[in-house]
Amino acid sequence: MEKIIVHAKFHTGHRQIGYPGKCRFVHGHTWRGTITVTTEEFPRDDLDMALDFGDLKRVLRELDHKMLVVPSDKEFVDPALFEPEGVVVIEGKGPSVENVARYAWNKVVDTIRDKFPGQGKTYTIEVLIQETENNIFIVSKDTTI
Ligand SMILES: [Zn+2]
Repeated sequence: MEKIIVHAKFHTGHRQIGYPGKCRFVHGHTWRGTITVTTEEFPRDDLDMALDFGDLKRVLRELDHKMLVVPSDKEFVDPALFEPEGVVVIEGKGPSVENVARYAWNKVVDTIRDKFPGQGKTYTIEVLIQETENNIFIVSKDTTI
C-alpha cells in the first residue's frame, strides 16, 4: 500500500445563509486541509513520480483569499457586484465545512484523472478540513480511475 499526504492552509470568507446564529453573517476562517490518497501502488510518470504534491496542494490553495458561496447566494454570484475570480461556487445549500470537503474531494479525483486517466486503479481519497482549531470534518471514499 502506498500513501501520499499533503497539508495546506487557506484563508476564505463565507456565510451560512439561514443559520440561526452569527455564522449567517459574512466572516472568515483560516482553514487547514489534509489530503491523503492511498492505493496499492501508484502509477509513475516519466520521472518515477506518482501524484505531484503541488498539484494536490493546489486543490486547497485555489480557495485561498476567495469567497466561498453556493449557487443560491444571489448577491455573491452576481458578477456585477463582485469580481467573479474572487468567488468560488461550491455545490450544496451552504458553504459549510462538509461541502468544502466534498468540493475538494471531487477536485482531487479530477487531479488524479488528469495525470493517470483510465488506469482502473482504486484510490482511497481522504480530505480533512479543519475550519477552526476545534472543528474538523473528514470525507473518505474510494473511487476507481
Ligand atoms: Zn464559518
